[in-house]
Amino acid sequence: MFHCISVGLHRVACLRPARISALAMSTLILLASNLTLAGDLKKADIERRFGPPYQVQEKLREIPVWPLTSSLEQKAGPVAYVFESIDLAPLPGFEGTPMNFLVSIDRKGNFIDVELLRQREPVFTFRDLGGLGDTPLREFIAQYAGRNIHQPFLIALDAARNRPGHASNNGVTTLDGISKATTSVRIVNQTVLGAANEVARAKLGFADRKQHGPSAHVLSDVYDPVSFAEMLSNGMVGRLRVTNAEVEKLFAGTEGANVDETAMAHPDEVFIDLYIAYLNAPTIGRAVLGDAQYSAVMERNFDKRHLWWIASAGRYPITDDDFIPGTQSARLAMTQNGTFYDLRDQDLEPKDLSGPPALNTSLLFGINTEASLDPARPVELILTVGRAKGSVLPTVVAKQLTLSYLAPARLFAYPPEPSPEWLLAWKDRWIDLTIVGLSLILLSVVLARPRWISRDARRLRLFRLGFLTYTLFYLGWYAQGQLSIVQITGAIKTLKAGLGLASYLYDPISLLLIAFTVISFFVWGRGTFCGWLCPFGALQEFVGRLARRLRIPRLRMPLAVAKRLERGRYLVLAILIGAAVLFPSQGETLNEVEPFKTVITLGFERSWPFIAYAAALLVAGAFYYKFFCRFLCPLGGAISLGGLLRRSDWLSRRGECGKPCQRCKAACKYDAIEPSGEIRYEACFQCLDCVGIYHDDKRCVPIVLHQKKGKRLLAERDNQVSMQNQPRVFHRSPAVPEADGR
Ligand code: SF4
Ligand code: SF4
Repeated sequence: MFHCISVGLHRVACLRPARISALAMSTLILLASNLTLAGDLKKADIERRFGPPYQVQEKLREIPVWPLTSSLEQKAGPVAYVFESIDLAPLPGFEGTPMNFLVSIDRKGNFIDVELLRQREPVFTFRDLGGLGDTPLREFIAQYAGRNIHQPFLIALDAARNRPGHASNNGVTTLDGISKATTSVRIVNQTVLGAANEVARAKLGFADRKQHGPSAHVLSDVYDPVSFAEMLSNGMVGRLRVTNAEVEKLFAGTEGANVDETAMAHPDEVFIDLYIAYLNAPTIGRAVLGDAQYSAVMERNFDKRHLWWIASAGRYPITDDDFIPGTQSARLAMTQNGTFYDLRDQDLEPKDLSGPPALNTSLLFGINTEASLDPARPVELILTVGRAKGSVLPTVVAKQLTLSYLAPARLFAYPPEPSPEWLLAWKDRWIDLTIVGLSLILLSVVLARPRWISRDARRLRLFRLGFLTYTLFYLGWYAQGQLSIVQITGAIKTLKAGLGLASYLYDPISLLLIAFTVISFFVWGRGTFCGWLCPFGALQEFVGRLARRLRIPRLRMPLAVAKRLERGRYLVLAILIGAAVLFPSQGETLNEVEPFKTVITLGFERSWPFIAYAAALLVAGAFYYKFFCRFLCPLGGAISLGGLLRRSDWLSRRGECGKPCQRCKAACKYDAIEPSGEIRYEACFQCLDCVGIYHDDKRCVPIVLHQKKGKRLLAERDNQVSMQNQPRVFHRSPAVPEADGR
C-alpha cells in the first residue's frame, strides 16, 4: 500500500514511497561526491586572452589571481589582475551550481572585462533549442567594462533607467537587468562584485567594506573661518615637533647612533616640525590655502582625490634631494588601519600661507578616492629618518616617526549603509509581495472557514475560477512565482557543495510561496499549493473545464489503477533527486520533465520540441483530468510527501460518507475519496467541492434523506391529529448530526 490511510480521524498507516524516497535520498547523498568548485583555466588560457602589451605572470599562491604586467610600464608592477569568480565567490545560482566568470580589473579597481566561462541557470540554457539562451547574460556582463568596483551597482528593468551605459547622477551605476531572469542576474552581480572586491582588498589595498563600511564624504557646505592657531588647537592641522635629542634616542643602540654631529651638538634644537591638514574640507582648505588658491586647487582636483597639505620646518625636510615632483616622497608614507596608500605629490606648491612658521618644504599630496581611505578616520603619516654610518660602504639605518591625524568629525558625513543585494530584491518587489501576501491571507481564511464559500456551488465556482485566474496570470506569468522541482534539486546541490541557501533570498516571491506551502503542510496538507497556487496546475484546470464545455469526453480509470499510476510522480521525483546528487552537471536536463519553464517562465517562447511536449501534457489533461499533476509531476510528488506532516483530517465527513453514500466520491474529479468515504489527502487538491456538498442541504444525500423522512413523519402525525380532532402539536424534523462544527 502506497498511500496514507485514514480511519475516522486517525491515520494508521503512512506512505511507503516516503520511506523509500528518504532511504534512497540518504543513500545517494552518501554515495555522491562533492561538486567541483575550482576554476577551469590555466596560465596559457589567460595568455590567449590578454596579449601584448600585457604579460601574464604566474598565478599567485596567497589568492588565486593572475597578475598582469605591461611592457609599456616595465617598473610599474602589476597593472591588472585576472581571476575566476568561482575561486573567490562561489555563489550558487538558481539551479544550485555556482556560475563562473573570468574577471579582470586594473590597479584602480576598474573592470577591464567580465567573460562568461560556465553557467547552468535554467533560464539561460538550451540556447540552440530555444529559450533565452546565454546571449542576454553575455550582454548583461558586458556592462561591467569600464565601471569601478567601488561604485554602488543597481539592476533595473524600467525603461527610463535602462538605457545602455546609463548611470544615475548620485554615483550609482545602473545595469540593465533581464526580464524573466531577475533572480539569476542578481546572483551574477553578487558573484562578479564579490570576487572583484576580494581581489581589490587583497591586492589593491581597498578597505573591507564589510568591516569598515563606506567612507565618509566631506560636507561641502560646512565652513567656519578659523585661524592657523585655532586649527592647531582643534586638530584641523596636525603637528609633530621632534628635537635632535629625541631622534638620537630613536637610533640608540643601533649603527645609526652618535653619527649626527649636529644633533649631538644641539640636542634641543628642532629636528623636524611636521604639519599635515586635510584640504578637501572647506574650513581647513580655505584657511590653509586662502580662498582663491583653494578654489583653483579644487577645480583642478576634478577626480576628487583626497588632498593633504604636508609641510616641514627644522633641519629635516619631508623630501630628499632625489625627490621628483609628481611622485611619492621616499620619506613619507600614509596608512590607515594598517593599509598603506599611494601618497603622491600633486606638483603644486601652496603660496602665501599665513600662520605656520618658516617652512623648508610645503607641498600638496593626493590619494586616489577609489582607494577607500576614509578621511573621517585617523590616518598615520609616517616619516622615515635615515642615517648612514661610514663613507665607502655605509651602513644605512632607518627609523620612523609617526604623526597621527584626525580631522574633526563635524566636517564629514557617512552615506547610509548600502542595503544588501537580497534586500534590494525584496524592496524592488514590495508591491508584488504585498499582493501575493494578501492573496495567501485570503486563501488561508477560505480554507480555515470553507463553509460559507463552498455551500453555494456557484459562489465556490466563481471564487475558485477567480483565484486560479490570478494564480495563472499574475502569480505565474507576471510575478514569475512558479515553484519548481529545480528549487529542490538546486538546494540539494548547493548543500552538497557546502554552500548555504542564501541565494534563495534573491527570489522573494518564490521564498514567500515556499514558506506558505511548508506551513500549509502542517495545517491542510498537500492540496493547498497544488489546488490553488500552482500556475501550471491552474492552467490544467482551465483546460479541463474548457474540454467539458467542448464536450470532450472525460476519461476515468478504476481507482485501483489510478492509485498505481500515481506512484509515477514519486518515481520521477526519485530519479531527479538521484540525478541531482550523482550527476549534478547533467541532472538539470532531466528537470525538463516539468513543463513549467516552457509554459510559465518563458510563456511558450521556446523551440517546438518543448512546446509540443507541454501541449501534449495539456491535451492529455483535457481527456484525463490533471493528467500531469496526478501521474508525472515530481514537484507534486515532493509536495505530497510534505503533506504527510498534516496534523489533522480537516475535511468534514459524516458517518454515512461511503456507507452507503457515494455522492462526494462521484463528484471528486481527483479520485481523492475512497469508496469507504475516507479522503486520500495526498491526492486531494482541496477544490472544496465535497465540502460544499457536505454543507448543502440540497446536495448532501444524508441530509436530503433525513429531511424527507422528517417531512413524512410530520405529515403522518398531522393526519393522525386531524383524525382524532385533537389540538395539534408541532415538532422539528430530526436533524442530521454534523461531523464537526465547520
Ligand atoms: S502536481 Fe505539479 S503541476 Fe500539478 S498542481 Fe501540483 S505542482 Fe502544479
Ligand atoms: S472533492 Fe476531492 S479534491 Fe475536492 S476537496 Fe473533496 S476530496 Fe479534495
